[in-house]
Amino acid sequence: LDKWDKDYVWHPFTQMKTYRQERPLIIERGNGSYLYDIEGNRYLDGYSSLWVNVHGHNHPELNQALTDQAAHIAHSTLLGAANVPSILLAKKLVELTPAGLDKVFYSDSGSTSVEIALKMAYQYWKLKDAERYADKNKFISLREAYHGDTIGSVSVGGMDTFHTIFKPLLFERIEMPAPYTYRMTADNDPETCKVHCLTELEAILREHHEEIAGLIIEPLVQGAAGMLTAPDGFLHGVRELCTRYHVLMIADEVAVGFGRTGTLFACEQENVKPDLMCIAKGLTAGYLPLAATLTTDDVYSAFLGEPHELKTFFHGHTYTGNQLACAVALKNIELLERDGLIETLPEKIEFLTQRLAAFRDLTHVGDVRQRGMMIGIELVRDRAAKEVFPPSLGVEHRVILHARQNGAIIRPLGPVIVLMPILAMSIDELDELLTITYEAIKTVTIEAG
Ligand code: PMP
Repeated sequence: LDKWDKDYVWHPFTQMKTYRQERPLIIERGNGSYLYDIEGNRYLDGYSSLWVNVHGHNHPELNQALTDQAAHIAHSTLLGAANVPSILLAKKLVELTPAGLDKVFYSDSGSTSVEIALKMAYQYWKLKDAERYADKNKFISLREAYHGDTIGSVSVGGMDTFHTIFKPLLFERIEMPAPYTYRMTADNDPETCKVHCLTELEAILREHHEEIAGLIIEPLVQGAAGMLTAPDGFLHGVRELCTRYHVLMIADEVAVGFGRTGTLFACEQENVKPDLMCIAKGLTAGYLPLAATLTTDDVYSAFLGEPHELKTFFHGHTYTGNQLACAVALKNIELLERDGLIETLPEKIEFLTQRLAAFRDLTHVGDVRQRGMMIGIELVRDRAAKEVFPPSLGVEHRVILHARQNGAIIRPLGPVIVLMPILAMSIDELDELLTITYEAIKTVTIEAG
């Protein structure tokens, strides 16, 4: 199998020689918070299988929901027809989203939910008044933003590794600063960082608002950027500026949604109602690919018209509103509500906060960021200079391998070690995850430092 994996499978981001030389981790099954490889080794799933898993692996009720739905039908199209699970799920999502968004447009990945939001925002202005808003063709996004891998979502991305090579294919983006308190302020002061970012955003909007269709932002935490936690009030400030300057606000809740920050949606924490909201990952609790772009009646109604007016939103994926995925998403939400999983989070979050304090004392830990169940530990070679280890040392990768050898799967994002535990993990399992991570960081960084 190892050889066939190398011979036939093209994995994302893993063509670097270091990865190609290693034996791949071949996962065969999962149960609760653990993954098992083909040799029977057990690993704590410390990154929720890329930030998707909510209730644990191999959950009997989620399995049953899939089986039940499959016994009815697996898929029929939403083009010219409807289906029961997608109707029930849309109604539920509208009831649950911040300040009640009104309409749900389904797709199948975080990237496509973003692509759709961008296209909707762009077309919205053209439909409102094509002449008046002729120049509203650009989007604002944050430095280091990551919103997916399609051409549209890469266009609003700010990470050079994803962006630079495709530049000629991308549309225009205006960059605003990302609140990165650790690197922006000498004394780690979130308030200074917030004021700086909002002031810069306002300056951009003052000058360019007539060219800007929308602003896209990950509420509260920029995940892939390295778990950059936003200062309190920042999201609210962004919302106010978007409203004031007539720019649609797109909340990308693909990573932060479904409980990751401690509430079902991150926007709730600052009472923010976005004009468009993207959800994916945790929507099916990690079972199937499903995403949705939610929006307001105001945006939706701009697209209503007679056939000759061509107001339609021309976008429709083959698997949009897939019944199996919608059925498992409905069960995910039912379990969340029935078992009160979100209500169990404050205790777990507090436990993590306390345990993370010890990480700050490690010589090569520069910053520890936590928002809810999202954690980033930034490694530095030199704390005073905030200088990261040279990539050639592969320190972060070695930390991940050390943790894996000791039974936990975690991920690096550049110099940041990321933990994104399954929401249903017990306190004991969280404890084990942190113990393994602590030892891995300590051992590897001391060797490298
Ligand atoms: N937006 C955010 C904030 C994400 O974190 C991701 C994935 N990490 C995406 C969009 C893209 O989602 P997907 O990989 O499902 O296309």
